[in-house]
Amino acid sequence: MVNTPYVTLNDGNKMPQVGFGLWKVDNGCADTVYNAIKTGYRLFDGACDYGNEVEAGQGVARAIKEGLVKREDLFIVSKLWNSFHDREQVEPIVKKQLADWGVDYFDLYLIHFPISLKYVAPEERYPPGWYVDGKDKVEHGKASLESTWKAMEDVKKNGLAKSIGVSNYPGALLLDLFTYATTKPAVLQIEHHPYFVQPNLLKLTEQHNIAVTGYSSFGPSSFIECDMKLAADTPLLLEHPVIKKAAEAHGKTPAQVLLRWATQRGISVIPKSNSQHRLQQNLDVTSFDLKSEEIEEISGLDKNLKFNVPTNYGIPIYV
Ligand code: NAD
Repeated sequence: MVNTPYVTLNDGNKMPQVGFGLWKVDNGCADTVYNAIKTGYRLFDGACDYGNEVEAGQGVARAIKEGLVKREDLFIVSKLWNSFHDREQVEPIVKKQLADWGVDYFDLYLIHFPISLKYVAPEERYPPGWYVDGKDKVEHGKASLESTWKAMEDVKKNGLAKSIGVSNYPGALLLDLFTYATTKPAVLQIEHHPYFVQPNLLKLTEQHNIAVTGYSSFGPSSFIECDMKLAADTPLLLEHPVIKKAAEAHGKTPAQVLLRWATQRGISVIPKSNSQHRLQQNLDVTSFDLKSEEIEEISGLDKNLKFNVPTNYGIPIYV
């Protein structure tokens, strides 16, 4: 089994550098999680919005029951959805998400987006998604990011999550957060691939000792699945000559090169795959080293191109 390195977070907790992402894992999620644990994955990146926390928890429960792992061997990540930013809604929804997973703490809990939407009661619709009516109407919420972060600090204080962090925050919002935070975020989770390298944001997180997890490490591939035109119009990174050249030189796949480019730069990764072969491949991404020239050449593909923006899905939220 592959030995995944751990990153020490600014609160002292340790996070596996390679994990498994649960977005769009719909059919057979429990089996997928169980198989991933069997393959050696220890970190699972979930969210209310992925709609599969109950099933993911069933996979975890089966692995624990069969003695493959103990709860403390796993690092379970979840996220606060935009509709639950009001301070009084945070703790109840974390408790619901914990019950869905069948665990009594998260290892890491993140604010999913710096966007507050109007509250939708879980009894009405869950997960609520982007639209207040479940169809096409967006209604913004009134919670400030400061009040939401204060509620996140309580989540940590009350032992519901061992670490807390944020996702999809640009540098300016992190700087603002530092003015009111008692507890700094342990992790920033962002879209990150060679078309979206974000050197300045990474310098800021390094200065403040915030660990970075990169998502959608293969660039457009994930968003083609969502029928995003921008992604379909962008050359695939998995087939890019620069990536293929490095893959051939190291006897690895383009996916492994993309994940190694990130991990070698200190960034954690959370790829997803339903195929056993790819599951294994994606975990084995810290056992070889790209040369510094290769890392530079791959970073040189930067286009400052971000796919995961609401308007790219046709959602009328202008951030
Ligand atoms: P991904 O890393 O899962 O990659 C997308 C595509 O690549 C998938 O179609 C997958 O089948 C394919 N793939 C996987 N392994 C491969 C391999 N070895 N060779 C070839 N193709 C391969 O992209 P993602 O799902 O967008 O991101 C990963 C995870 O990040 C998500 O599951 C989720 O947990 C998290 N995420 C978070 C946010 C956020 O807003 N915080 C947004 C998007 C994703």
